[in-house]
Amino acid sequence: MKTVYLDNAATTSVAPEVLEEMLPFFKEEFGNPSSFHSFGSSQMEAIEKARGQVARLLGAKCEEIFFTSGGTESDNQAIRGAVKIDSARTGIVTSAVEHPAVMETANVLEDEGNSLGIVGVNKNGELDLESLKGLVNQQTAIVSIMAANNETGVIMPLKKAAKITHEAGALFHTDAVQMVGKVPIDVHALNIDILSLSAHKLHGPKGVGAIYIKKGIKLPPILTGGHQEKGVRSGTYNTPGIVGLGKAAELALTHLNDTASKERKLRESFEKQVLESCPGSFVVADGAEYRLPGTVTIIFEGIESEAVLTLLDMQGVYASSGSACSTGSKNPSHVLYAMGIDYTLANSALRFSLSRYTTKEEIKRTVELLSKVVERLRSISPYTQ
Ligand code: PLP
Repeated sequence: MKTVYLDNAATTSVAPEVLEEMLPFFKEEFGNPSSFHSFGSSQMEAIEKARGQVARLLGAKCEEIFFTSGGTESDNQAIRGAVKIDSARTGIVTSAVEHPAVMETANVLEDEGNSLGIVGVNKNGELDLESLKGLVNQQTAIVSIMAANNETGVIMPLKKAAKITHEAGALFHTDAVQMVGKVPIDVHALNIDILSLSAHKLHGPKGVGAIYIKKGIKLPPILTGGHQEKGVRSGTYNTPGIVGLGKAAELALTHLNDTASKERKLRESFEKQVLESCPGSFVVADGAEYRLPGTVTIIFEGIESEAVLTLLDMQGVYASSGSACSTGSKNPSHVLYAMGIDYTLANSALRFSLSRYTTKEEIKRTVELLSKVVERLRSISPYTQ
């Protein structure tokens, strides 16, 4: 059975060129880049090449990029580090729709005594800038606002949020895990102080990412150890992973405009076809000004998203549900909740996320299958009788 993978916001396939670039570092080039001998230290060149590739994708300088184990670690370092810089500034401000890597970190720090302000979003999932203004003050250490939401694809007004943050003298961090490699981002033009990214969302390997820290900002580390990455992030270099991230960043930059326009066209056509063929469905954040090209959440009224997912899965079509499931208990998505979408509707939400490899045929097959599945479930749903 030919499968259709429409869960690229969860993770992406490793691009063949990326794998190719990584392989030697699993085999013959296995030395430790921090070693004194040339067998290891010569690998520093590959690390520095990757640093340049990532820096170019972000419009950053090489010395502003530090490799980490991924988005979660970068987010942790940004927030945990920022609240330690100045004892007079320990407050955190973030949004109601962040990924748990930010949200949980902020909650834990609040339990430890840091103040926490949560900025809301409107019904389109867009950041409430007025509320942000009211929450940032002279005690704020860091404002952390995601670049693009992982469920709705809504892109946040980073430049405006950074301006408000800087007027209060705080640092501005963005979790750009979902945005990097999908649409252009220039950290200097947007005035971003700290940014998190993850390789596995842009056709790179899992377990590797980076943190951009603007030159001049001394962000304390969360890992102490052997002083790799100038002490910003200790730990033996994950050379194959870093090389893979570098190549993924280079490819993303090369394909940036083509990919964005291809994904946008496919996603728009997908949305149109689904709405036509599945009555009682609607696109979440449809009215948002800016959305990622390839991510969409659609609500199918009166139907449990997990039932749809299961039936799609049986036919080899992979998407994801808008609601998080943890330890067997179903929680409504905090993102949809923050947008004013009620529990029942949130449980009918499905996310479809495309990649540069998604084809028109795959979209066609998914639409055909979805309309059949939705019709079948509607015919047996107690809510639609
Ligand atoms: N932030 C966002 C917005 C994400 O979507 C994810 C992953 O789903 C993360 C952070 C975590 O990144 P990683 O899987 O690299 O730890």
